[in-house]
Amino acid sequence: MFDLNQLVRSNIKSLTPYTSARDAYTGKRGVFLDANESPFGIYNRYPDPHQVDLKTAIAQIKHIDVTKVFLGNGSDEIIDLLFRIFCNPGHDKVLTFIPTYGMYEVSAGINNVEIINLPLTDTFQIDTESLTSVLEDKDIKLIFICSPNNPTGNLIHRETIAHILQHFHGVVIIDEAYADFSSAPSWLAELDKYPNLVIMQTLSKAWGLAGLRLGIAFTHPMIVDLLNKIKPPYNISVVNQRAALDALQSVEDLTRKIALILSERQRLIMQLSDIPLIKTIFPSDANFLLVQFADGDKVYNSLIEKGIIVRNRNKDVRNCLRITVGTSEENEMLINALKIL
Ligand SMILES: *Cc1c(COP(=O)(O)O)cnc(C)c1O
Repeated sequence: MFDLNQLVRSNIKSLTPYTSARDAYTGKRGVFLDANESPFGIYNRYPDPHQVDLKTAIAQIKHIDVTKVFLGNGSDEIIDLLFRIFCNPGHDKVLTFIPTYGMYEVSAGINNVEIINLPLTDTFQIDTESLTSVLEDKDIKLIFICSPNNPTGNLIHRETIAHILQHFHGVVIIDEAYADFSSAPSWLAELDKYPNLVIMQTLSKAWGLAGLRLGIAFTHPMIVDLLNKIKPPYNISVVNQRAALDALQSVEDLTRKIALILSERQRLIMQLSDIPLIKTIFPSDANFLLVQFADGDKVYNSLIEKGIIVRNRNKDVRNCLRITVGTSEENEMLINALKIL
């Protein structure tokens, strides 16, 4: 049922991609007079357009073949590239489940692609009954599923996602930005079962490298080829590639940081439970909590006055604030501020 060739926009299929100097000659040694670079300086050379060293390190950590790895200048670049590969502006559509990450809709808007937003149920799950008709809509090219979902924090049921993967003719993107904080296994282990699956992860959250801008797509090599075909040739800078490669050397460090955040998340849940102002603390598989107050806007503004900034999600989920788990000192400050409101 899934036919990648039929799904790709015709202008992308026929596109002749840019060939950079580093594509034309791939040797490492020599006198390089081919890219109009300056012969002076430390950042004078263009970066590796295919980020081979960095991708190899990521592939090793994730136990996946390097041909299934694509790197973007943040996940946001990957989202945009997927729109441009698959969605004809002014004609095609994409599907999301709201409330969710805002960039899917922004990217749809930029690309002039209609977005269908199906509301999640009151337990923030995909409403399987509303799914049947949209899965048959041939103009829907992409489905974005954020799991654990931002801003609700919960995982989307595996059976529902599997059903979508099996019955949708287009590409399914599972955004796993928060997977490192989750008790459930990543979808990575299932990648080979689904030629229409793109799994997005990022170095921005658990790895603590949001400032670098590095998003990862794990997907079938044919989709990797398409992403490579249309990406800006040097989308990941030399500094970015080096700094990420350094950070990836210490997986133990990552494990330690995740454990700390998870124990802080637990502590925060316990302490927030004692605060009368709070109506609901929604379960979280991420590094944040969605918390419902009697008057979300009021609490939000009071916290700002005390110098504590959380995210006001009142417009998405009534009276809810999204609170990122910080250091124990930061969390303590939040708790103390809430206690005296
Ligand atoms: C934070 C976040 C990302 C990360 O985006 P980057 O561009 O890689 O920093 C992706 N998806 C979701 C749902 C997020 O919350």
